[in-house]
Amino acid sequence: MTQHTQAQKEIAKKIDSDTVIANWKDWRWQLKHSIGDVDTFETLLGIKFKAEEKDKLKQTLEKFPLSVTPYYLSLIDTDDFRNDPIFLQAFPSPKELDIDEDDLEDPLSEDEDSPVEGITHRYPDRVLFHISNTCSMYCRHCTRKRKVGDVDSIPTRDAVSEGLEYIRNTPHVRDVLLSGGDPFMLPDAYLDWILTKLREIPHVEIIRIGTRMPVVLPYRVTDDLVEILKKHHPLWINTHFNHPREVTASSREALRKLADAGIPLGNQTVLLSGVNDCHRIMKSLVHKLVQNRVRPYYLYQCDLSEGLSHFRTPVGKGIEIMEHLIGHTSGFAVPTYVIDAPHGGGKIPVMPSYLISWSTNRVILRNYEGVITSYKEPDSYEPIYCDRKCEECKLQLKLDDAAEYKSTGIAKLLADYDEAVSLVPEDTDRMERRDVE
Ligand SMILES: *Cc1c(COP(=O)(O)O)cnc(C)c1O
Repeated sequence: MTQHTQAQKEIAKKIDSDTVIANWKDWRWQLKHSIGDVDTFETLLGIKFKAEEKDKLKQTLEKFPLSVTPYYLSLIDTDDFRNDPIFLQAFPSPKELDIDEDDLEDPLSEDEDSPVEGITHRYPDRVLFHISNTCSMYCRHCTRKRKVGDVDSIPTRDAVSEGLEYIRNTPHVRDVLLSGGDPFMLPDAYLDWILTKLREIPHVEIIRIGTRMPVVLPYRVTDDLVEILKKHHPLWINTHFNHPREVTASSREALRKLADAGIPLGNQTVLLSGVNDCHRIMKSLVHKLVQNRVRPYYLYQCDLSEGLSHFRTPVGKGIEIMEHLIGHTSGFAVPTYVIDAPHGGGKIPVMPSYLISWSTNRVILRNYEGVITSYKEPDSYEPIYCDRKCEECKLQLKLDDAAEYKSTGIAKLLADYDEAVSLVPEDTDRMERRDVE
């Protein structure tokens, strides 16, 4: 059992003098006492904002609401709260109202790539399924900020059924990513129902859940919840730690329960100015994650959603961090740094360049230490011409095991069997002249 910190005891007492600390680890108590206004924030933390600042904060909250669990609040260091990574992720800044020219309301076009309510279908074989419109903590850096607090509710079974129907009727969807909001805002029985329905669909091979509960409300990971999740393997969970300070005894306990249930755990971090834009912080974070059996999955460049401009860093900051991780620490502790391209382009990996030159039979590489080295390629390599007649190929892919295949993009240009030699933008002057003729 994890002990309560002094801050937690004091906050619990201020919220509810009768129950004091006894309910602290009850996730429903935490939700019921989530902090949604500046005054309560001040009282609970014993801090004070000037009247002028409070006016601005209130304006900000009209556009982007506030909600933070007592647990997450208790992690704030009140001595230096303005620079505190927990405070910066949970508490509004008037800078959220500065909208940059290039900001977009729905930068990832999640609403456009949505065949039915609740589903974003962008990649060939997997879908994002929004099964909750709410979260226990409203991250100030939320990419779906436009929706936060909008319909603070859980979709009805009818609404979810439409999404399930779409997945059922789309046989190439082999991976379903439950997201939201936070799926763990759903009651256990409802979540169990959704997972059961998904498992009944034969082509759904894996289910993933994206949740920030281990970070902002670790008590949600109850033994009951874990028992339910265990029934629906293979199930993967991705969580969202941004700073080593978030890895507390309570978080570790939640992660332990999930990992002990055989659930592979991953983490997605957002690179945030003033919070974690430092390679030492990132290295400490990834080390803490792997110690708790969580594999760093993605490091995201902060996207172009409205209200996030003060959190954005140059891409160079991310590359610099990757330069400090790759080779310097365990390979599986290194996340993939990605930029989620505007207008639904999807995640694009970026990293320092290691391939520095190339001849007909040699590649020149550099390593993390600056060693420049060469790799001699084979003199004789017999390429396997691929005409997609796998049954005649000497490589032993059993057709039963093979995914249905239609190449697109760069893979299509590389393919032997496809005639395409270029991908050409449609709207160039040259193409327009051709159209006229
Ligand atoms: C991120 C994302 C996925 C999952 O991508 P992976 O790279 O497989 O983790 C799927 N659909 C959408 C719309 C996404 O944004």
